[in-house]
Amino acid sequence: MDKIVALCKRRGFIFQSSEIYGGLNGFWDYGPLGVELKRNVKEAWWRDMITNHDEFSTPAGAPSPFSMVGLDCSLIMHPQVWKCSGHYDLFHDMMSDCRETKRRFRFDQIRGRWIHVERDSRGQHHYYIMTDADTPEGGLEDTVVRACKFFDVRRKDAEGAFTWQSPGMVGISPQDDLSKVLVPGASTPGTLTPPREFNLMFKTTIGALGGAEDAAFLRPETAQGMFVNFKNVVDTVRVRVPFGIAQMGKSFRNEITPRNFTFRSREFEQMEMEFFCHPSQSRAWYQYWRDRRYQWYLTHGLASDRLRLRDHAADELSHYSVGTADVEYAFPFCEPGEFGELEGVAHRGDFDLRSHMEGKLVRDSTGCLAVETGEDGKPRHPGSGKDLNYFDDQSRERFVPHVIEPAAGADRATLAFLCEAYHEDSQPDEKGELQTRVLLKLHPKLAPLKVAVLPLVKKDGMPEFGLDLYREFKRAGIPSYYDQQAAIGKRYRRQDEIGTPWCITVDGQSLADQTVTLRDRDTLEQIRVPRDRIVDEIAKRLRG
Ligand code: ATP
Repeated sequence: MDKIVALCKRRGFIFQSSEIYGGLNGFWDYGPLGVELKRNVKEAWWRDMITNHDEFSTPAGAPSPFSMVGLDCSLIMHPQVWKCSGHYDLFHDMMSDCRETKRRFRFDQIRGRWIHVERDSRGQHHYYIMTDADTPEGGLEDTVVRACKFFDVRRKDAEGAFTWQSPGMVGISPQDDLSKVLVPGASTPGTLTPPREFNLMFKTTIGALGGAEDAAFLRPETAQGMFVNFKNVVDTVRVRVPFGIAQMGKSFRNEITPRNFTFRSREFEQMEMEFFCHPSQSRAWYQYWRDRRYQWYLTHGLASDRLRLRDHAADELSHYSVGTADVEYAFPFCEPGEFGELEGVAHRGDFDLRSHMEGKLVRDSTGCLAVETGEDGKPRHPGSGKDLNYFDDQSRERFVPHVIEPAAGADRATLAFLCEAYHEDSQPDEKGELQTRVLLKLHPKLAPLKVAVLPLVKKDGMPEFGLDLYREFKRAGIPSYYDQQAAIGKRYRRQDEIGTPWCITVDGQSLADQTVTLRDRDTLEQIRVPRDRIVDEIAKRLRG
């Protein structure tokens, strides 16, 4: 992972936000190449969802033809949106602060990893992992290793595996007794505050007066924009259920522990789609989107042995969800066997549209969703009161559509494609000595630059020939680069490192017979192609 982060900085993919002021934790800037890569990821998603979608034919596995339309909603929405969606009351993490080191911990991440230390009469430390289960998930040994890594009380053995640092015994303490927890860097145990709720929404104030009633939130997800515009879309573009509304854009979450590069940031981009369908078809659509979204990542280059589709267990489901599956990727920062979420595909039933009609919903004693009421018997967070039912003029049926939601992160997808693409191999340099070659094997559709035009030397008409070709690529709308500086091997390596799939070399023969060399980044194969066919050849490969 360190190598990938270094490459991102060195070659202008991703920088720390406000770096010259020491950076800002949880915020990132995309550099000249990163912005192109992320745009290509988003464009590939939008093409798949909207632009290339044929609403008159039924794709394989789908129950019926369907429409897909887009939206671009405001980042700040009416505060009632978040009250009805449940984010205002429920979108929080439990956190705990260390009074001495001022470090902040997310309780759910380190629960089961608390370390309780005791010193015996001989001064030897005894460490305990504090967990409420006799046998922690994944087994005790696994828990110990994770705890050691988390708290940095680790030692690597000769094989590089993490082992328990303490020569003392390891056991399980049955309670979450924070008084005995020793935070790394703290001088004594017991410096953690009891866990408390922390809402992840960023708060802001609207207007100049700034009273309590002017408080608003930066959206923590893009999804709500689609629900509150459901009626607008149905009334204006004449879509019929089943149909989907997609949106991509920024979301904000005040994450307690942003980490793992851009994986968990406080400002990030989401690519979300809400698919509205008849309740009787919702399970079939859920299956369709679940499988199709998994396939999208494979098609764009993630390897199947590092990608998985994991169905949530019943106790993991949100209070409204009938079924959820996550597309997950084994990022280099994950522990062996662990994966990080790229996208969640959820069957949300009629929860969202009903919440915005009736008010915030909770499960009642019978397990059904009902409007939450206050002590006065009135809805705690009233809905809009608007009729968000759908009327099917063919079946003459009125119903609240069910929703299937594939919710992806553009930054996580970009990071996964970068991680997957990173390769090193050995290649002989100009003197025949083996050199490590770093290359990004990005899918050509995602690569920031598609082609580099490189005259072999800076004379004999080669630069003019090359520049002319470079301009032709630009006119054809193919992102290209012209480079005449340094030895050709060095220029190839620069392009390999940023993932450019093809290099075109102009040499002496080019001027004589009007051909150029086309070099492939991954196979290193070089073929000669007529000058007047090369732009079409690259365009054809990009289409393929
Ligand atoms: P996690 O459990 O990792 O916090 P989540 O289940 O809360 O994620 P969702 O609310 O389902 O995430 O959001 C949909 C997608 O948005 C996620 O799959 C992820 O790709 C992206 N995402 C969510 N939170 C972040 C974040 N803090 N930084 C970057 N991407 C994020």
